[in-house]
Amino acid sequence: MSLDKQLVQGQGMTSLRTRQRLIERLTEKGIADVRILEAMRDTPRHLFLDEALSTRAYEDLALPIGYQQTISQPYIVARMTEALVSDDRLTEKPLEKTLEIGTGCGYQTYLLSLFSKKVTTIERIEALKDKAQKTLKELKINNITFKVDDGSNLGDDQYDAILSAAAPLEIPQSLKDRLTIGGKLIIPVGDGNRQVLTLVKRTSKSTYIEEKLEDVLFVPLLKGVVS
Ligand code: SAH
Repeated sequence: MSLDKQLVQGQGMTSLRTRQRLIERLTEKGIADVRILEAMRDTPRHLFLDEALSTRAYEDLALPIGYQQTISQPYIVARMTEALVSDDRLTEKPLEKTLEIGTGCGYQTYLLSLFSKKVTTIERIEALKDKAQKTLKELKINNITFKVDDGSNLGDDQYDAILSAAAPLEIPQSLKDRLTIGGKLIIPVGDGNRQVLTLVKRTSKSTYIEEKLEDVLFVPLLKGVVS
């Protein structure tokens, strides 16, 4: 089905009221940055899902996207985005360079692209990357670079924001090294039983501050590429 048709059909199925209810729920759960709330209200989350699931797109739920992966729960997407961008709330200055590990369906990538001049996103499953890239092209987003790779293979680039959508057992030092001074990394850390969403800020060349935000459940960060 063409995107235009999906958008039109999507409007009936996902009325502004349904989206507004999701935003109310996010507000109740503590999301305060109006820019993020508005962006999530206006983002067509149903376009990132298979049609069979699109009626549930504006519920605060993680949903399957195939390949045993899930689109993250909207509350968690909002929380992670806020952790990275909310410092700039007063100036509304966009982030310069953002890195995402675990593109999945591209919904979180889309939100990051609204708050960052450039986004690089890495996904180990080629088919997911291809689908996300297609959706984001249809949404006319052009500040995202897509890569199929294991997110532990990082070059020398530095980022002022890094988001990992998959959980390692411990935060890799190699990832912290990719932060600019003043940069922030948001990442779930732990195993399948217990993970904690952790915010790391780089305060100097060799110092970092870690803040544990809340318990979460993400898919594990896995090795290698699936093509
Ligand atoms: N934000 C995404 C979350 C997808 S789930 C969404 O809402 O759709 C996390 C993703 O991380 C999965 O697609 C998984 O394949 C990917 N992933 C896991 N380990 C990875 C690694 N080492 N490198 C890159 N991607 C990885």
